[in-house]
Amino acid sequence: MRTGFFWDERSFWHAGGNYALTLPVGGLVQPMSAGGLPESPETKRRLKNLLDVTGLIHDLQARSAPAATLDDLVRVHPAAYLHAFKKLSDAGGGELGLRAPFGRGGFELAALSAGLTKGALYSVLNGDTQNAYALSRPPGHHCLPEMPNGFCLLANIAIAVEAALAEGMTDRVAVLDWDVHHGNGTEAIFYDRPEVLTISIHQEYNYPLDTGDAGDRGADAGRGANMNIPLPPGGGHRLYLQAMERLALPALTRFRPDVIIVACGYDAAAIDPLGRMMATADTFRRMTEMVTEAAADLCGGRLVLVHEGGYSEVYVPFCGHAVLQTLSGSAIDAPDPFAETFAARQPLARFDAFAEGVITDLAGFFF
Ligand code: ZN
Repeated sequence: MRTGFFWDERSFWHAGGNYALTLPVGGLVQPMSAGGLPESPETKRRLKNLLDVTGLIHDLQARSAPAATLDDLVRVHPAAYLHAFKKLSDAGGGELGLRAPFGRGGFELAALSAGLTKGALYSVLNGDTQNAYALSRPPGHHCLPEMPNGFCLLANIAIAVEAALAEGMTDRVAVLDWDVHHGNGTEAIFYDRPEVLTISIHQEYNYPLDTGDAGDRGADAGRGANMNIPLPPGGGHRLYLQAMERLALPALTRFRPDVIIVACGYDAAAIDPLGRMMATADTFRRMTEMVTEAAADLCGGRLVLVHEGGYSEVYVPFCGHAVLQTLSGSAIDAPDPFAETFAARQPLARFDAFAEGVITDLAGFFF
């Protein structure tokens, strides 16, 4: 079995705050009978459940991992933030940033999520697995060193990368973020670092509103090692594959990483409540095929996918199953029940022409 699958039941127990979608409850905002924050356990638990029901889980090396250590965390986050987070977590939980609430024990659960990411990366770098998937929760790609943000409490991928760099396990890492939101935290942490390429494909002006511009290319020694690919709302399957073929994959080829990490959000999917794109399970399958081929060509197949956003409880499991089937090469399929309906609702040709123009403009900008 070539694919590691890092998960832990405890990561489904992370919770915090009284929200209706992204709105704090109160005033004219009625509490939800079920749900709350869109970053709820259900999307991720239902992916794990679907893997169990189809049997794909048996074609994966499923395991947990130790929590990230304090040494791991302080490479990315200031001690003052970690101290404040731990103190509030012990006191029952609360909020230290922007829409990143947590409950009692949230600190330990966030450290476990970072640890699952680190475990996945280490298993690939050690050669224990060919590729790996971390079903990490809470997610990480919006988290800044000193401020939690957008459901993200610790910068999972950055923590894992810094640990591997510090231990000399790798010296050249590429992070490709296809979550529908900009990977602003990962970008900020590595913005002046030439040894870490960060690429983000995201819906323009979604979240955060003030980051993700194509002109943000990195700074100082890291100039050119950051690529933002903002896409217009409504873009679908073909637009995502074009962004991969025309922009992301050539950038990976030029950078020649030791390992590729994908910040794998599913909120570009057609019925996500926090995105306005039209990707499908087949889009995620094809993008996984592309990045698997790139890893085989560039870095001995070393590839790690780290679960980020994705808020459709019904659809995320099918998108994730398609990704994990592709990664593992398993014959076990979970046919997309929405395939026909979403295929029929892809953008019209005139939108495609417009969106392809966006890709062409960006290609001229980058290459
Ligand atoms: Zn997202």
